[in-house]
Amino acid sequence: MPMANPYKTREGGATVTVFVPYDCRNHCPFCINKQEYADTTGFSLEKICASIRRMDAITPRCDFVFTGGEPMANLDSLQIMLDCIPTTHRVFINTTLPVFEDQSPQDILDFFTRNKGKITCVNISRHIQHYVEESPDELIGQLPVPARVNCVLWKNYPSAELPSFVERWKDRHVSIQFRYDYTDTTPENLYREEDDKILHDLKKYFTYKGLDGCRMRNGYHFEYDGVEITYHKTLPYSTITETGPDGVTYDILYDVIIKQNGDIHSDWTGVMMDVPAYEHVVFEPDDQKWLERC
Ligand code: SF4
Repeated sequence: MPMANPYKTREGGATVTVFVPYDCRNHCPFCINKQEYADTTGFSLEKICASIRRMDAITPRCDFVFTGGEPMANLDSLQIMLDCIPTTHRVFINTTLPVFEDQSPQDILDFFTRNKGKITCVNISRHIQHYVEESPDELIGQLPVPARVNCVLWKNYPSAELPSFVERWKDRHVSIQFRYDYTDTTPENLYREEDDKILHDLKKYFTYKGLDGCRMRNGYHFEYDGVEITYHKTLPYSTITETGPDGVTYDILYDVIIKQNGDIHSDWTGVMMDVPAYEHVVFEPDDQKWLERC
């Protein structure tokens, strides 16, 4: 496969997001992944594991994120994938913490206790509007690993409920990340504040602490009654083409994606990665930095 430009990424390597080969039971209206689980032909745990090992060999200190679908809908398969990742990596799991007939809250706690040396943070989807099947809040408070609640503020979300949503998590030892609808983010509005309704709502209810960010994404930080809150915005793609000081035009990668069939993509937009070329990736300093601090 011909590659347009040589690759560049930040020190440590682009984050590798792994799409697990099994679905969730929810139908969130903003979901951009659901359609990929409609046809499971070619899904392969084995090929995903081979791709995880390949990425580990190229960037042995990159971050891994498990997403779906629902990574925790099949704990045995998740364990097999986790066991392919050496402890040189940070590992994040995006999940709803699903409890069902064959999976109790205790099974979930046992899984995290077994793997607490491997998991950096579990990101749990909970929204102001009731989009996902929820397991008990008490379970989240008992997790033996760091946890964050991810909440998408979608369309006409009930902004007056923001303080009570944060209070719900106050004694559960979690931080909260509010998220903008990625499909609406553009380079022009990523940092534009005047017409950002979510930002205005958050500034109304919570104490603003500062802004960090880079070319691709940012985070507005807040605090409320001891709870750490971030408002996260990111572009819907993850490659920026730029000419460096060396006069070479690079594809700068922020995310690498391992698909359900083990294919490795260099962007969310369906671009296959030239993996042998990534073996020669050029590194640049991480451009994520504090832009404002209060
Ligand atoms: S829980 Fe996640 S994967 Fe499932 S429908 Fe909602 S956003 Fe999509």
